[in-house]
Amino acid sequence: MLNAKDYLDSLKKLNPVVYLFGERVENVVEHPMMRPALNSIAKTYELAADPLFADLSTAHSNIINSPVNRFTHLHQSNNDLIAKIKLQRLLGQKTASCFQRCVGWDALNALDSVTFEMDKELGTHYHQRFRTYLKMVQEKDLTVDGAMTDPKGDRSKRPSEQEDPDLYLRMIEKRKDGIVVRGAKAHQTGALGAHEILVMPTVALIDCEKSYAVSFAVPSDTKGIIYIYGRQSCDTRKLEGSEIDVGNCRYGGQEALVIFDDVFIPAESIFMCGEYEYASLLVERFAAYHRQSYGGCKVGVGDVLIGAAAQIAEYNGIQKAAHIRDKLVEMTHLNETLYSCGIACSSMGDRTLSGTYLVDLLLANVCKQNVTRYPYEIARLAEDIAGGLMVTLPSEKDFRHPELGKYIEKYLKGSANTSTEHRIRILRLIENLTLGCAAVAYRTESMHGAGSPQAQRVMIARQANFEHKKKLARIIAGIEEES
Ligand code: SF4
Ligand code: FE
Repeated sequence: MLNAKDYLDSLKKLNPVVYLFGERVENVVEHPMMRPALNSIAKTYELAADPLFADLSTAHSNIINSPVNRFTHLHQSNNDLIAKIKLQRLLGQKTASCFQRCVGWDALNALDSVTFEMDKELGTHYHQRFRTYLKMVQEKDLTVDGAMTDPKGDRSKRPSEQEDPDLYLRMIEKRKDGIVVRGAKAHQTGALGAHEILVMPTVALIDCEKSYAVSFAVPSDTKGIIYIYGRQSCDTRKLEGSEIDVGNCRYGGQEALVIFDDVFIPAESIFMCGEYEYASLLVERFAAYHRQSYGGCKVGVGDVLIGAAAQIAEYNGIQKAAHIRDKLVEMTHLNETLYSCGIACSSMGDRTLSGTYLVDLLLANVCKQNVTRYPYEIARLAEDIAGGLMVTLPSEKDFRHPELGKYIEKYLKGSANTSTEHRIRILRLIENLTLGCAAVAYRTESMHGAGSPQAQRVMIARQANFEHKKKLARIIAGIEEES
């Protein structure tokens, strides 16, 4: 297994084509806007190398029969699914951001069962090929970016109906030794910290859309792949050399628009090629795993936000006010409700035919549906407790200024024993989590990551079994006998 330093060193050996502000970025690892995101991924390696966290951060691989970083592991039990949630909460607490490695983990687990079932029904030979790939991922302890979301163009039209056929990633050529693909994957979490990009279709497909039914993995610096880095709110503060103003200067998340400009994929790296009937199953399972994930990672970030709110209440001298206590209790109630959903869909998960465990689909979707709401309320309460100073604070440069510093020190002081700098630091952290870079992960990603709210409602409707509920009602109402 790699440690954090090994991981960062391994990235330096890659040569991806990356653009930010219209310019090519040659050194991703040392770039001040990108490095915090890589530090978050590096934390997944750091914890795996720490005996204190080994129970959660590592697992015994059923593929290579030795310990592996849990982020490359196929869940072999309900306990594995629960350990995933606990690990994600821990990492959320330690990074207060998105640590990005879960998308690949969720893609690996989804592909394992889907390729098995596809082979069984269609007589294809993808599963063994996938397991060989996974063996390499586990042995090298790679970070994999699970890439599902296509740009989608006109949302009222299917992939085959788009004016521009490239708005969903597709195969444009089939060769003897592989395929050539064209398209893009949008807002790809962790793409620049990944060694491998693992592509999957994004919607259910029909007979005439076989060319869109492709899944494959390629090294992230494969020829023809271009990354355009996504902006985040307040991102250029990372370029100012100010530590306090960033709010969380060590950790962050990242998204990129990933372009596949006629990329060749060798046959041994292809896990679906035309089997359109299995696209929806792959989407459904990947989405379910990632909707489970949010019951862990967002809860860990929520812990930091609740802690920051409680801390600023103390710095402001209002910690004993009854309404403040009650708001902190409400935030905790909401946060732990999300955690309960993550644990519940893991506990109620089941074994698939390949042996890999899958979460309970209904509960995983309920989990994510709650995540589209509760972090917003938790953030609202944190802003309420923090007060307006959170968005009107002077800069660190003014605070450090030989003339101005003393005024800020004097007039922005909170309760008597509080350091003004500590007060400013906590306020900037709350700003970061609710409005700044981390708000991508804690707020908008809570809404749209792992599928927008309506996508969960479609799945909840499908899993709800209203017929069974109607029958229960008919029996109780005396319309029908219990059978
Ligand atoms: Fe992991 Fe959460 Fe980031 Fe998804 S949003 S990659 S689950 S940390
Ligand atoms: Fe996400």
